[in-house]
Amino acid sequence: MTITDSWKIKDAFEIKSKDLLGRVGRLRTKSGSIETPCLFPVVHPTNQIVAPKEIREMGYEAVMTNAYLTRRAFGPDVKKGIHEILGFEGPVATDSGAYQILTYGDIEANQAEMIEFQERIGSDIAVILDIPTGLTANRRYAERTVEETVRRADQAIASIKGRETLWVGPIQGGIHLDLVAQCAEEMNSRHFTILALGSPTQVMEQYMYKELVQMILACKANIQSNRPLHLFGAGHPSMLALAVSLGCDLFDSASYALYARRNRYLTSSGTIRLEDIEYLPCSCSVCNNSSIKDLVDSPPQERMRKLSIHNLNVCLEEIRRIKQSIVEGRLWELVLQRVRSHPKLYESVNILWKYRSLFEGQSPISKKKGLFFFDYLDLDRPEVTRFRQYVVKRYSLPDESRVLILLPPPLTKPWGTDKNVKELLRSLDKPESYHVCFYKIPYGAVPIELSEVYPVAQTEISRHVDITTISDSAEALIEYMRHFKYNEVFLHVSDEVWDKKVVSKVRRLCREEHQKLVVSYQGQDVWGVKALQSLSALLKRRRTVTKKPK
Ligand SMILES: [Zn+2]
Repeated sequence: MTITDSWKIKDAFEIKSKDLLGRVGRLRTKSGSIETPCLFPVVHPTNQIVAPKEIREMGYEAVMTNAYLTRRAFGPDVKKGIHEILGFEGPVATDSGAYQILTYGDIEANQAEMIEFQERIGSDIAVILDIPTGLTANRRYAERTVEETVRRADQAIASIKGRETLWVGPIQGGIHLDLVAQCAEEMNSRHFTILALGSPTQVMEQYMYKELVQMILACKANIQSNRPLHLFGAGHPSMLALAVSLGCDLFDSASYALYARRNRYLTSSGTIRLEDIEYLPCSCSVCNNSSIKDLVDSPPQERMRKLSIHNLNVCLEEIRRIKQSIVEGRLWELVLQRVRSHPKLYESVNILWKYRSLFEGQSPISKKKGLFFFDYLDLDRPEVTRFRQYVVKRYSLPDESRVLILLPPPLTKPWGTDKNVKELLRSLDKPESYHVCFYKIPYGAVPIELSEVYPVAQTEISRHVDITTISDSAEALIEYMRHFKYNEVFLHVSDEVWDKKVVSKVRRLCREEHQKLVVSYQGQDVWGVKALQSLSALLKRRRTVTKKPK
């Protein structure tokens, strides 16, 4: 029996909702299904601060433990299964000891032994014994870990006997992105149900979130989109939304206990030292039933247990919030809230524009909920870049419409049927020769025919946006105008900052392209009766001027 016989990705993983590269899915294991994104709390096989049974009662569907430590504690010939050992009925994932290799350099078991052992104890999800790259600048070493991990993957596939365990293919390469890409491609071509990105723990300990984002995306760009991806050793609630938005489905973390041991209280926006807390910003069972004084005065072991329970609750709550955001199509908004919890996290989203095509290719075309636009970081949203590209590459102008009337967004939606816009259209002589477009942040130009499509009509934007957004949106408008080359342009503007930017950019373009430009300045009340009369007068004057030669 080879792993190929049991491998049925389509049967094991089903995607239910998507947003950005994140998804809500269902992973089937022999001990039941897990809804993803899913965080496996990591538990010690024999010595647990919170029992796996309690973790399940809190609402966690699965846990992870270390197969190597289990083998050391119970011996290679143990008769009990891992579910019995842990007292946990749901799915149990086991790690093979790679983390111990990273920490201690080597372990006292080989690949074949660890595969046999994980099958013996009935792991639902198991990892082959790979060689973690860790955080190393040494390229030769990183290359060796990738070669060895791929070699071990083949060796593992040949020695796997059972058909029930879902096997994980680890992706190494560390911060060397080309190696991550190469390893991802190799693992993707092998029959693992789940792929996993290794070595992020040390990267995160150093707050190298920018590198982490690039590692994940190097991986995602080279694996099938319907494959579940596990991010090893990541589980702080403040970074889960970001990791999910990049396409990570599974997480494992012991951080709830590790932080608790150091008197650290987790929140979705960061970590607080217990001695710095005056109010408990949570209503889990621990926070509801204890005061700060109770927590501080508890004996160390009890305090650690209470903090662990709180930390587990916060992580679970965040996972649920992320799933809800995916279903609502608001994951981007959640990510941008979360990344503001640390400058290094915030910095990491500044590089997402490099991966626009990956996001556009995989995130949904249309959503149920509207889009909230706040600042220049939102320019990288797939919805924005997709619309801008669409108008230039796919949209074509109505025949004969060579005169552009460029208007600010009208007062009522849908814009195309706004009272003032309709009246203006009615007043035109030979209306087929005109084309109405709205200039709109962040889309640039919105042809009237597209003003009701998603996401334009569903975008909510603050009146006060930053200058980068204004410049970038004006650039998009100019790109549109350069592409369609109208003969004449009528521009109706107020004295707001955005409108002024539009005037200066359009004026320069028309000069360069020798297009006739008429600007109708209207102060604040751009949709007032006077302003519209003045625009109509300018359009009429055009008519008399152009009629004259006849
Ligand atoms: Zn709490």
